[in-house]
Amino acid sequence: SSIFDRVKEAPPDPILSISAAYRADPSPKKVNLGVGAYRTDDGSPYVLPIVKHFEQQFANDPSTTHEYLPQDGFTNFNYHSARLILGHDSSALKEERVVTVQALSGTGALRIGFAFIANFIGNRLVYIPNPTWSNHRNVVPQAGLPPTKNYRYFEPNTRAVDIEGLLQDLSIAIEGSIVIFHGCAHNPTGADPSKADWQRILKVVKSKKLVPFFDNAYQGFASGNLDTDAWSTRLFVESGIDMFVAQSYAKNMGMYGERVGALNVILSSSGPVTAVKSQLKQLIRAMYSNPPLHGARIAAAIMSDKESFRQWEMELEKMSARIQTMRLRLRDALNKNGAPGNWDHIVNQIGMFSFTGLTSQQVAFMRDKYHIYMTSNGRVSMAGLTESTVDYVADAIKDAVE
Ligand code: PMP
Repeated sequence: SSIFDRVKEAPPDPILSISAAYRADPSPKKVNLGVGAYRTDDGSPYVLPIVKHFEQQFANDPSTTHEYLPQDGFTNFNYHSARLILGHDSSALKEERVVTVQALSGTGALRIGFAFIANFIGNRLVYIPNPTWSNHRNVVPQAGLPPTKNYRYFEPNTRAVDIEGLLQDLSIAIEGSIVIFHGCAHNPTGADPSKADWQRILKVVKSKKLVPFFDNAYQGFASGNLDTDAWSTRLFVESGIDMFVAQSYAKNMGMYGERVGALNVILSSSGPVTAVKSQLKQLIRAMYSNPPLHGARIAAAIMSDKESFRQWEMELEKMSARIQTMRLRLRDALNKNGAPGNWDHIVNQIGMFSFTGLTSQQVAFMRDKYHIYMTSNGRVSMAGLTESTVDYVADAIKDAVE
């Protein structure tokens, strides 16, 4: 017998297992609409030219080293990261009520944020939108908190945010609970609250003393504009409450594998700033000691130079525009081939994904017959579509829904 005999096999990850199945499929017709990674119009991964520029510059610079970072990461990166999401004139930054630590991309930011909550705030309930990015349900209990609770988010009939249901559920949440919000480009639905909706949500959050945890994985990628996509986060931060803000540079800088991200803890008063920062550093020390340097060095270089920043903004506009074009192309192809139903939601949704409304049976049918891969909830990564695959996918959808 072995100490490992009692280990049961974990269920496959609903998102990552799709890429594995896609890779194993020998069909030349196969299309991967599963994982949320940007692809060019010929279906290739994309390295942003401004990222490549600094990568080469650092590689050729004899003063470049690979020394350890401190536990909280690269100072210049943290400085610019906080300003990117909170805005340069953020009152929280001016009043020095923000603690920013570099994190292992967005997932790592969530992970240390919830570990901090479990260790120093208490055994609080965490509310997540229904549906949400599936990993939220893993990260929260792994960090030592109770299993998550759902709040209503999406109304499948109208394919819009169920704002009344959302407000009702938050208004009966246990006081002091943590609530995860997607700052923009909600994954998987592509449906975001309106500005007026966010204001109503903030009211309930304040009256129930809820603690918002904003998950920002798509800043700049949704609308193509970094400030527009930060609007909801800034609304909440400027209201002066205690809250958490996670950032990822996976999508917006295309540095998926470099794990570049940050956690911002926003305090309602500056008193505990030093204590909070020291405990975050202690947590990180025990988990992985310090974060990786390579991606943070590049991100900091882009964000701290005006001209480089402008180039990055142009790249974001380009990437989000290609996704928008694919939305139009897919909707038009479905109207043209006569697939039953109204497909306007594909163009009305925002961000990387379209929540098509396809059932898990229809998704399985498309995988088996057409070698088209997407998550079983009918979520399609729009960046996975190209001019040469969009008609094929539209015809497969028609076949699946008829
Ligand atoms: N949150 C949401 C809602 C996401 O969609 C993602 C990326 N799929 C993440 C967080 C984090 O991704 P990463 O750890 O690669 O930054």
